[in-house]
Amino acid sequence: MPFKPNFNPPADEPASALWFIFDKGRLLIKLKNDTCSIPDTSVLKKCKSAIIRKHYLGTLHDRPCFAAEFAGDSIQDAQFAFKDLRGLFGMLEEDLIWIAGRANQLVNWSQTHRYCGRCGKRTEDKTDERAKICPECGLVNYPRLSPAIIVAVLKNDRILLGRNKRFKLPFYSVLAGFVEPGETLEECVKREIREEVGIKIKNIRYFGSQPWPFPDSLMIAFVADYAGGEICTDGSEIIDAAWFAKDNFPQIPPKISIARQLIDWFVQNH
Ligand SMILES: [Zn+2]
Repeated sequence: MPFKPNFNPPADEPASALWFIFDKGRLLIKLKNDTCSIPDTSVLKKCKSAIIRKHYLGTLHDRPCFAAEFAGDSIQDAQFAFKDLRGLFGMLEEDLIWIAGRANQLVNWSQTHRYCGRCGKRTEDKTDERAKICPECGLVNYPRLSPAIIVAVLKNDRILLGRNKRFKLPFYSVLAGFVEPGETLEECVKREIREEVGIKIKNIRYFGSQPWPFPDSLMIAFVADYAGGEICTDGSEIIDAAWFAKDNFPQIPPKISIARQLIDWFVQNH
């Protein structure tokens, strides 16, 4: 990826810099002839007084990238609009989507860690690393990440797919869940599958990982084999689950997610 992350900002904000500005999880984009782009520094002429909690992200093809939060009412210019980041999949270059995700995580963390969780005093940005420190009690907070596992469970030439009640669209996907304190990733994989569909699994192996900035997950993906039991959905999170052969798939998740990468891997290898 041509993006080079960096904590130390440049001395100035060149006209070519890219600005990833968020308002309640929605990204500011520039619209022109039905194409979307990330605004450059000229956008600040329209909204500089409303820009708060700025973070330097690094460079994309040598263009500095900044994240910030928008604290105004609106931008009075039809060329600009705030859009849901997930709705921009396929409309923005993939590199820009992932930088926007990084920006969203930092802006969200910065907004939700303004006060010390221990003593309640206002925190300050550390100058030597990406962290916030409480000037009163010294508590340091780094940007929060919430690790979650996601797993493709295989049974001969079929894959376990489930329908989560939180999915807005009626698709089936591989199962996932957040890691709990004290757990290894492998223990988490076994627990989630046992809790959500009541089966046992074995041969858990690493597949890959992906940041998932809604708002701060890190997805860690695995493949595993069926080891015993009958599917019995928990009814609260997973409302339906079954074994699917690749020629008999339900609707599956969109291309960009690691869930889809797991499913595509299964299709190519079975
Ligand atoms: Zn404190």
